[in-house]
Amino acid sequence: MKGFISRRHAALSIASAGLTPMVHAWSPQADSAVKRLPILTYHRFSNTATDSMTVRTSLFRAHLRLIERLKCNVIPLQDWVDFRCGKGTAIPERSVILTADDGHRSQFEVMAPILASHGWKMTLFIYPSAISNARYAMTWAQVHEMTRSRQYALGSHTYWHPNLIREQGHMSLANYRQFVTKQLTWSKDELQQRCGQPVSLLAWPFGLCDGDLMGQAAECGYQAAYALGNRPTTANDALYAEPRYLMVDSFSEQRLEALLTSILNG
Ligand SMILES: [Zn+2]
Repeated sequence: MKGFISRRHAALSIASAGLTPMVHAWSPQADSAVKRLPILTYHRFSNTATDSMTVRTSLFRAHLRLIERLKCNVIPLQDWVDFRCGKGTAIPERSVILTADDGHRSQFEVMAPILASHGWKMTLFIYPSAISNARYAMTWAQVHEMTRSRQYALGSHTYWHPNLIREQGHMSLANYRQFVTKQLTWSKDELQQRCGQPVSLLAWPFGLCDGDLMGQAAECGYQAAYALGNRPTTANDALYAEPRYLMVDSFSEQRLEALLTSILNG
């Protein structure tokens, strides 16, 4: 998860992605209520930061205490999607959204007990090929246990987490589009079947996408999709490439406080 979506990609409009106006509707009143909203993305947790994607458990606890101290409202990602789709969902001031990618086992063993004490909702973006398969990943039983509580919503992270931009150069356009469709639909279908809840949100592997991929996500029935980017999301961002902040261990409590304060008070 080292890549970041470029500003050029993030700036691609729904129209340029070849999408219909079924999404991306908001009223001027709603737009004035929440202008900039931070979406935080975590991956792995451990007592020591053994790699770039691991956040120390103590730092994660500090992040959550900070969010509480700043009187943020942690809202489900789906509420923001509904707001952006013009469903009249109210987004409170000082809202923050939590997500976690890749289905790492430490999300069940470390993150979930800590988050439970706050009761905040989070969306888990999972690629099914790893679950009950890769040594570092959760089992399906653990995924069930998390999602059964309704504290966690499930999103797709494709089927096996390919770098979709790099794959473009390895096959014909027709084969590439078929490959992408399989990655998007297999994941959505398996998550829905195994966990019995609708899956309509997608996180791009490595945060990488382009206009064509955004169009395919819409064609495959996704409501919205998420990239990575060092900025808050706004109602003006392409709904299929909303930026999320990558939470790594160098994101100290002080750094997060400065970031949240500037966004929430800005
Ligand atoms: Zn990932």
